[in-house]
Amino acid sequence: MSMHFSGVVFPGGEHAEFWVSDGAVTFEPAAADVELTGYAVPGYVDAHCHVGIVEEGEPDLVRGRALALEDVAVGVTVIREPGSDLDTSPLDGQEGLPRFVRMGRHIALVKRYTRGLGEQLEDPSQLVDAVRHRAAEGHPWIKLVGDWIDRDAGDLAPLWPDDVLAEAITLAHDAGAQVTAHVFGEDALPGLLDAGIDAIEHGSGLTDDTIDVMVERGIGLVPTMIQVENFPSIAAPAVDKYPVYARHMQALHDRREETYRKAWEAGVAMYAGTDAGGFNPHGALPREIAALAAVMPPEEAIAAASWRARQWLGFAGIEQDAPADLVVYATDPRRALADGALPAPSAVVVRGELADLPR
Ligand SMILES: [Zn+2]
Repeated sequence: MSMHFSGVVFPGGEHAEFWVSDGAVTFEPAAADVELTGYAVPGYVDAHCHVGIVEEGEPDLVRGRALALEDVAVGVTVIREPGSDLDTSPLDGQEGLPRFVRMGRHIALVKRYTRGLGEQLEDPSQLVDAVRHRAAEGHPWIKLVGDWIDRDAGDLAPLWPDDVLAEAITLAHDAGAQVTAHVFGEDALPGLLDAGIDAIEHGSGLTDDTIDVMVERGIGLVPTMIQVENFPSIAAPAVDKYPVYARHMQALHDRREETYRKAWEAGVAMYAGTDAGGFNPHGALPREIAALAAVMPPEEAIAAASWRARQWLGFAGIEQDAPADLVVYATDPRRALADGALPAPSAVVVRGELADLPR
């Protein structure tokens, strides 16, 4: 399918035209069967999205495919999947589906993560071996659970000693993988950051000190703001048995905008991620972009889901010969976002093909 776009192109917001031919962007005039106009944004990245985790029943590739298509419908053309027990790699290259950045199974400890999810080690000392095995699978990233409720302590607490983290992360880097970690609270962050971690998922417990380290070392943050909005519903059932934990989760929730605004203002590299597959539905990226727009300017919130995230993960934007991933809007998405919400896209192009959009 060949296309011609004429209108405003991001980043930059200048008027331009380009063509999509043989699945790739070209600025050289070509034949076109489809005319697109309006505002063209490089295809979105959902930087934290699980198609291999489902809230009810068992995940499988048929469900995974359907969930990924829900994301495509809002403009997602790359899914970074931070942990999945289901190997979703057979979805690669299937028509109409996004490209994936995978991490294999995420690594946690027994009783220190959602039951039945991820690889759960008996003892923290086993982390280095687990990371060695994960790295051998060849995924570009490895995901650790950095903190979780410690039921003996009655509060969030780190899973891993600092020296074990340092050894595990160095090993991952030597094997060519980057490492990220799920972190809700404050205490696990210094050890992970000092160990050389490459990104933080959630990061609701970031403080002035850990924000400074994130900036200094160029560590990426995927705040999943719409997941942090769920903290009161995670805290509520724990109020009687784990009151300190419940209050802690509520406090992290209550200061979330302040935390992420500080991170943004200090210069932390932030990316949009929904955490779909857990408590959040698929197709929610526009909601996350709107949440980000509460702590940064609208165009920056779009960048965090689009060109900046693509660059972070090694995907080209609207560039000569790049595979065409586009979100096209009829009206200016910056203005819509400043008014509170993104409109539905008028077209989504994923890997050079026009996606079917719900009408
Ligand atoms: Zn997640």
